[in-house]
Amino acid sequence: MSKNNKELILSAPLSGPVLTLASVPDAVFASGAMGDGIAIDPLNDTLHAPCDGEVIHVARTGHAVTLRADNGAELLLHLGLDTVELQGDGFSMLVKVGARVSNGQPLLRYDLDKVARRCKSLVSLLVITNGEHFQARPITLKGVNVGEPLMHLIATTPGGTQDSEQDGGIEVRGQIRIAHRGGLHARPAALVRQTARRFKSRSHLHFDGRSAACDSVMGLMGLAIAEQAEVHVSCRGSDAEAALQALLATLSTALAEETQAAAPVARPQRHPAEDGVLQGVLAAPGLVAGPLVRLGAIELPDDVGGHDIQAQHQRLELALEQVSDEIRCTLDHARIRGDHNEEAIFDAHLALLEDPILLDAAHLAIDQGHGAPHAWSQSIEAQCQVLQQLGSALLAERANDLRDLRQRVLRALLGEACSFDVAAGSIVAAQELTPSDLLQLSAQGVAGVCMAEGGATSHVAILARGKGLPCLVALGPQLLTQASGQTVVLDADGGRLELAPTAERLARVQQAQSQHAARRARQQILAHTPARTLDDVHIEVAANVASSTEAAQALANGADGVGLLRTEFLFVDRHTAPDEAEQCQAYQAVLDAMGDKPVIIRTIDVGGDKQLDYLPLPAEANPVLGLRGIRLAQARPELLDQQLRALLQTRPLERCRILLPMVTEVDELLHIRQRLDALAAELGVKERPQLGVMIEVPAAALLAEQLAEHADFLSIGTNDLSQYTLAMDRDHAGLAARVDALHPALLRLIAQTCTGAAKHGRGVGVCGALASDPLATPVLVGLGVRELSVSPSQIGEIKARVRHLDTVKCACLSAELLNLGSAAAVRRACHQHWPLG
Ligand code: PEP
Ligand code: MG
Repeated sequence: MSKNNKELILSAPLSGPVLTLASVPDAVFASGAMGDGIAIDPLNDTLHAPCDGEVIHVARTGHAVTLRADNGAELLLHLGLDTVELQGDGFSMLVKVGARVSNGQPLLRYDLDKVARRCKSLVSLLVITNGEHFQARPITLKGVNVGEPLMHLIATTPGGTQDSEQDGGIEVRGQIRIAHRGGLHARPAALVRQTARRFKSRSHLHFDGRSAACDSVMGLMGLAIAEQAEVHVSCRGSDAEAALQALLATLSTALAEETQAAAPVARPQRHPAEDGVLQGVLAAPGLVAGPLVRLGAIELPDDVGGHDIQAQHQRLELALEQVSDEIRCTLDHARIRGDHNEEAIFDAHLALLEDPILLDAAHLAIDQGHGAPHAWSQSIEAQCQVLQQLGSALLAERANDLRDLRQRVLRALLGEACSFDVAAGSIVAAQELTPSDLLQLSAQGVAGVCMAEGGATSHVAILARGKGLPCLVALGPQLLTQASGQTVVLDADGGRLELAPTAERLARVQQAQSQHAARRARQQILAHTPARTLDDVHIEVAANVASSTEAAQALANGADGVGLLRTEFLFVDRHTAPDEAEQCQAYQAVLDAMGDKPVIIRTIDVGGDKQLDYLPLPAEANPVLGLRGIRLAQARPELLDQQLRALLQTRPLERCRILLPMVTEVDELLHIRQRLDALAAELGVKERPQLGVMIEVPAAALLAEQLAEHADFLSIGTNDLSQYTLAMDRDHAGLAARVDALHPALLRLIAQTCTGAAKHGRGVGVCGALASDPLATPVLVGLGVRELSVSPSQIGEIKARVRHLDTVKCACLSAELLNLGSAAAVRRACHQHWPLG
């Protein structure tokens, strides 16, 4: 019943009630891993062709047959579930491979009673196995008789199979062992999708007789691929070979941060039951007391029906767009802060939000008459069930990420407030918190969180550990019957939630809490005094910040200044660039937040992998080696001029210091100096802010002496300096553990920078992540660094470390480290010379 070459109406191959794939009692089919399609619970004993076509495969065991329709669609007709195990008993195939069949022709006959008695279910499937080229929409979800219209199939790629690049191109295949810890769960699946999307070719993973397109995280997870399993990869298209090699590399490279994130928490044993105590599983350590606050899940109102289908589709699209914007915002901030765990988790959320399996199911439910909230909710629930049935604890935990998206999209659809109001110091109890809940609660200053469900390797657990928020999971349903307001003790290390602590116990916990607070307070007080070494050398400990709010926190924590303001915070998450006035106001706010302390403001460092919607830069083969940092002056000089004008209008200018990213030669610095002079003259500004350069490429470190002649100060960006010195992508998941700035090659560059700067009497700071590593403090001080710009929460700790050092001894021992052969050797030596407290 072909309407034209692209559209096809498939007729029912069997008679019986029709089901959506999601409701098939088989995790693999229901996940869509085999492809999109439909199911029938058959009442007759013969399977018929749903259209004209050619038989391209018949199962050896006679329970399934695949046809190629005239529009190129490949249709798997699978009789019953797990019927392969019957080994052909009860089936008789009526056609052979290569046969031409017509719509309605009998294909296979089976013994209905016999098969029904011996298999898991008779529910039979019609699945489009090359569904990436087609869109399938059921025509009915009621009962059908053989030959009645069942499904509408539309080719989405031009000409179906005939002229799309994918089908015209060659297909290449490869085989690889999965290195990812815990198998192919959400984050590695999102990485596979990301890799596949860099190419024009269409790629699939094949495992255990099943396949999934690499552009669906749900489909990939639905394959339930375990760690060390062998998978096949196929790619078809003009760049198939390159796509295949990239995918093989992604699949065979374990995520370093995954290993690190999973490592710190050992699976605790459960303790014997105790009255008034709920036993749970440690997700993030700590001991706290406080009032219990129950958080409920979002309630879905009844679906009253009678919807305008088009309006519901639109409503869903808008809500998805809103949530995806919110997630992108979280992602941008995680990237700016360099929080790789948070970034990977929300990257996976974004990929799930765009997942064709979830979206198709939701839109299908709308077509069937459901409102957008119910349609979305059903689609998510169906996939949660799939994940829970796959027999992998890790994948089952990932259902929580789907629930996060369920909740977020429902909130957007129902216009509910996105934040709860929980008092600081509370202990929050919930069935299961989602990653975005956790970020909100942590920002509100809650003391701890506990959940009836959840696991220690879930994304919420990873985030809780990152935020230092005590967290227990799997406390059981009893948690949800507890009243809000009662004072409880959360002993995460002991796996206990004490519901009725005695006054004595409460006093002890509160004492421990206050001792901890007192220690921090002492540290805080000391943090406000300058850090001097034992031989009385002042080391400035400043903070890396990305907004005026963070600057205020840094000052409260004792920062001697801002060592790095990443101005990208002003430019991301928006559709137009901030104008001069807005920029000036934002920089002034940071200066004002810092009292009388100096603030180093870095000019915008976008380009490379940090692209802005409103700043289209040419696509580059190697973006990190392209137009990024100060090189923007070459591509978009007016943008940099605008930023310099805004900076020149801040007051007082002696506290505002300008830092240039990615400088490689003296001329770049001289050019910006000239621009500063010209712009200051235009604005009638007499003073000049100090102008410094970042040392973050080896060329700059090697030219430090020449740069120092013209710069007011140098600041070492160890993140990029590691990347460019070691030739290892700083964001490469598989190399993360090896991109270590304590590598002796970097130490040599740092030493050379300090020596070069000293020749002109210039100070050297470090604003990369190495400055926040207490193990590195003595080495940096020993090599001549006199300013450390660290994350605001670590100011007290780094200052305390400085106070135990002697610069002369540090210099002698650090000089020896330059002769070691690896970062690991340097780390070992540091532990020996300067043990951490
Ligand atoms: C660095 O490269 O070390 C640095 C501080 O800059 P960013 O991390 O913003 O690239
Ligand atoms: Mg950098």
